[in-house]
Amino acid sequence: MSQTAAKTTDDFIAEGHTPMMAQYHTLKQEYPDTLLFYRMGDFYELFYNDAETASEVLDITLTKRGKNKGDGIPMCGVPHHSHEPYLAKLIRAGYKVAICEQTETPEQAKKRGGYKALVTRDIVRVVTAGTLTEDNLLEAKSNNYLAAISCVAGQYGLAWLDMSTGAFQVQAVHLSNLPATLERIRPSELVSPDTLAKDTEEPSLSLGCAFTPQPKSLFDADNGRERLEKLFGVETLESYGAFSRAEISAAGALIDYVQRTQKGALPYLSPLKQVTSDRIVEIDAATRRNLELTQTLNGEKKGSLLWAIDRTVTSAGARKLAQRLSSPLRDLKRITARQDEIASFISNSSLCEKCRQSLKGLPDIERTVARIHIGRGTPRDLASLKEALLRVEELSTTLNSKRKDDGLFNIIKSLSLTPALQELEDILTQALVEEPPALYRDGNFIAKGYHAKLDELRMMRDESKQLIARLQHKYAEMTGIDRLKIAYNNILGYYIDVPAKKADQLIIDSKSEDTDNPFVHRQTLANSVRFTTPDLAELERDISSAAEKAVAIETEIFEELCQKVTGQADDLNRIADALACLDVASGFAELAGEYNYARPHLYGDNRFSITGGRHPVVEKVLQNEGTENFVPNSCRLEDKERLWLLTGPNMAGKSTFLRQNALIVIMAQMGAYIPASAAHIGLIDKIFSRVGAADDLARGRSTFMVEMVETATILNQATENSLVILDEIGRGTATFDGLSIAWACVEHLHEVTKCRGLFATHYHELTQLTEKYDGLSSYSMAVKEWEGDIVFLHEVRKGSADRSYGIHVAKLAGLPANVVKRAEDVLKTLQAGGHSKSVKGLAEDLPLFSETKAAETPSYLKTVEEKLKNTSPDDLSPREALEALYALKSLLKN
Ligand code: ATP
Repeated sequence: MSQTAAKTTDDFIAEGHTPMMAQYHTLKQEYPDTLLFYRMGDFYELFYNDAETASEVLDITLTKRGKNKGDGIPMCGVPHHSHEPYLAKLIRAGYKVAICEQTETPEQAKKRGGYKALVTRDIVRVVTAGTLTEDNLLEAKSNNYLAAISCVAGQYGLAWLDMSTGAFQVQAVHLSNLPATLERIRPSELVSPDTLAKDTEEPSLSLGCAFTPQPKSLFDADNGRERLEKLFGVETLESYGAFSRAEISAAGALIDYVQRTQKGALPYLSPLKQVTSDRIVEIDAATRRNLELTQTLNGEKKGSLLWAIDRTVTSAGARKLAQRLSSPLRDLKRITARQDEIASFISNSSLCEKCRQSLKGLPDIERTVARIHIGRGTPRDLASLKEALLRVEELSTTLNSKRKDDGLFNIIKSLSLTPALQELEDILTQALVEEPPALYRDGNFIAKGYHAKLDELRMMRDESKQLIARLQHKYAEMTGIDRLKIAYNNILGYYIDVPAKKADQLIIDSKSEDTDNPFVHRQTLANSVRFTTPDLAELERDISSAAEKAVAIETEIFEELCQKVTGQADDLNRIADALACLDVASGFAELAGEYNYARPHLYGDNRFSITGGRHPVVEKVLQNEGTENFVPNSCRLEDKERLWLLTGPNMAGKSTFLRQNALIVIMAQMGAYIPASAAHIGLIDKIFSRVGAADDLARGRSTFMVEMVETATILNQATENSLVILDEIGRGTATFDGLSIAWACVEHLHEVTKCRGLFATHYHELTQLTEKYDGLSSYSMAVKEWEGDIVFLHEVRKGSADRSYGIHVAKLAGLPANVVKRAEDVLKTLQAGGHSKSVKGLAEDLPLFSETKAAETPSYLKTVEEKLKNTSPDDLSPREALEALYALKSLLKN
């Protein structure tokens, strides 16, 4: 949206544009960074560069329209009635779309400025990735956040809202925590002052979200405060919390951006909620990705923790679960309350099942209310709300519990309908037909009997034939002319048709001054004469406008109903939230039953004991495949074993064990039950995980550099209350460099950080550190050697492993046999001699790198071959033959 002085339509006409194109340019100049959908009849048309871009992205035909300065104007269009899929594709491709509608009808334009007058048009909305509200454009199970970042006096604030649900939150962040916070929220669009975008590394780069720089002036904190106070209708924002200027600046800029894209229409927004980082577990961006919480490293949901634990049956429930998973808590009371909800369902499984049945197919209240609030609701949305309210009443009866100690007590309380909501439910039930149409403009969604005048008009519209027939009958009787008919044509409209022979009487009557005679002559034809009457004219007017009037009344009722909904938005959202909580809790209860999950015990200290822990995703995959069972493993990071060094063969399950403990903590602190037989965990403040390696070429970082950056973050930020899991630190560099780095990291974690942690490594040398450090202990993955092969037992046992069996795994993976053989030889040599000396020897004889040499027949075989060639068995005595055989055999021994 442009801030510079604009040219007028006349300026564009003076430049040689047609009035319509001048109107187009006048609008377009205000929205240079968008694709402009210009409404023309049944199409949205795009012109110039917009048309070229859209035709390419949407794969639609590019045509030309008229000419400007001799050249045809590139143009393409999408049908108005089915534009949403096109819009979705453009938004997904990273574009913003300005929707330009006709703001008057051609008739109104003609009335205003004569037959040549151009209909007025205006931009009614700018559609961007972060401001979507339509179901078809949104993912049902994820939030769609629009975020804004701001910096005031060196302090950063981040605000984010979901226009499709009304969620609105703000958080003060340190610059170093910004990537982690953004990764947690995963906005679809990030708004930032243009100055900040220039100064810092673009924060949306790694997020892959749309990035919208805005003039710095729009981030003024004082204006922002005023905007927010006006929005919420409060004297001061203090009732919502003590916000920093940076937070207010970000939240205020967000509202400004929403107002501009929505052209003044404001979405429903719940009261601004302040998120404080000390109330949720900090998980940095790399850890979040590595642990594959809501999506895998490939960006898929399948295979993530969310995929494994999602048993929700409603979209709002799925969104709630994803939010909780992204923000595990550090607040014992809230965690316990969530656990109590699950426990309540577990103790009453038939209630749980009934509740889940009622929730299935429940309409998405949050999103419906948000759409209605911003004026994009439909009669079907109203019907959905009616259905939802009916179901809520049903559910309240099912769950009915007066016991305060019931874990579901608060949710059940929130489900109760206020008198105003009961009234809304009654009105919607009376007002709406069973299956209303999608668009209110088409009418026919208000039930018969709700509005008397509407019923009358509809009757007139639908029963015009009977009304005309009745009138015809009346006139035939009145005149005694049997063949009198009422007919219709486009020129006269309705008329009374009388055979010419019988018409004279009526013509005479119509010319007389007799006021009782209603017939007015219209037309004389060869065989008939046509008349009208005031009654017929009125009936015609009524019939033709009845449909229009009926739609107008329905529209009015629709708007009234929408207003009633809007007035109840807060209470409806309270109910929506309670329903989502029920969905999550009952889902966990079901999951706990099926997979034998346990309720973890949480404390305010540093204990950590997980008994029989399992990896929720690997366990589910193994179960789906039906191959082998997951082997549970315990983990106790306490007292003298605060930090575990885990060694063991490749493929033995080290990474799985490391991750499962981090995932169990996250599940425990999000208030869920966990895949373990028991757990006692002192609340964790931050979780760090360095697992696997990936480069970040977009930011110019090699694999090893990424590994070191992530390790540095951990060592700098972890506290005594953190959980750190490190998988094979130092792999991406020379052996001794890697070992030294790993060594120093273990020492730092033990001596300085003093956190609870798991450290998996193939550097067996590190186990020597356990003798020096009290809190460090050695564990390993058990394997069994059997007939020259190894069997992975997936069991964690006390003590260290002596070997990594890497070559064995390489063989399993299908490395060529000669390479495996050679590797075994090299390993033997290395293990036999001192490292550098043996390597030197090996390098002098490196068959791997000299293919010809490797492929050659060994020299002793050549000698055997030579000797055999020179031997003539017929000339040998039996004794000589025996001696020759011994000689050949002795060659083989060498
Ligand atoms: P590497 O050192 O090569 O990275 P690793 O020791 O980290 O190997 P994982 O990747 O954790 O091994 O596990 C290898 C595979 O073993 C997993 O994909 C999983 O299928 C299986 N596995 C791991 N742990 C268990 C377990 N406890 N029970 C059953 N199967 C398991």
